Amino acid sequence: MTSDILSQTYGLHGKTALVTGGGSGIGKAIASCLAQSGAKVVIAGRRADVLEAAATEIGHGCETAVLDVTDIAALPDAEAAIARKFGTIEILINNAGNTLKKPFEESDMADFDQVFDVHVRGALELSRCVIKRLLAEERHGSISFISSMTAYIGQPLVHGYTISKTAIDGVIRGLSAEFAARGIRINGVAPGWIDTEIFRKATDGDLPRKQKIMSRIPMQSLGEPEDIGWACAFLSSPAAKYINGQVILVDGGGATGF
Ligand code: NDP
Repeated sequence: MTSDILSQTYGLHGKTALVTGGGSGIGKAIASCLAQSGAKVVIAGRRADVLEAAATEIGHGCETAVLDVTDIAALPDAEAAIARKFGTIEILINNAGNTLKKPFEESDMADFDQVFDVHVRGALELSRCVIKRLLAEERHGSISFISSMTAYIGQPLVHGYTISKTAIDGVIRGLSAEFAARGIRINGVAPGWIDTEIFRKATDGDLPRKQKIMSRIPMQSLGEPEDIGWACAFLSSPAAKYINGQVILVDGGGATGF
């Protein structure tokens, strides 16, 4: 295959991409993969210093936008400002995430909301802003949600996280059906266990949990953030133009193997 065909098929040239939570971990790797594929990438999160450092590392003219996805009322203005400065967002990666490890019986709904608000409510509202502009400007777009293998296998002590990620699969099904005929594809990537801060928080000081996790990954290693990044770049590219409403598991076979 010539590099021209590769670039037309997998390239993201001329597209503006927004990656929430793009300042660290998986989001930073996603941003880097999109930028290497030619997109104009904007990374968003709450900490300006973290975003600036990540943008420098990513290079390729990566830009930053400070926003909190749980500040629902502020999201329309935040999206409009990004579109004005960097172009209409044609690729959105809803990656921002948090987690809370706590026994169910000791938790309350505030604990639940803290996780659900980031993964589901914030991602939904930001998607609505992006979709409205794409429809108004009659443009095509690609929105990817970062789900989790946790949506497929039960894991103890993280019920808010598990429920949120499972809800995301429903969001993908519903929105992909609603916008399929209007040129906006909605998909997801479900990472298995990836070596990042969130993973370390969930397993540090809990050796049996860590051993159990490692013992059930057929490929016998944790994933790397770039494994998720390239899956997102593919889903956002012309190569995936007929893929809609899907969630790709990138998990070393963890959810299906033994
Ligand atoms: P990190 O904790 O490294 O990154 C989370 C990012 O989200 C941070 O950059 C953070 O930036 C941002 N963020 C958190 N809350 C908000 C908010 N309210 N508004 C805007 N940005 C926010 O986690 P990972 O990189 O590991 O996780 C990324 C995604 O991948 C998450 O959705 C996670 O659930 C998912 N995932 C991760 C797995 C793993 O093994 N690591 C496995 C499966 C799924 P800031 O604090 O500056 O706002």
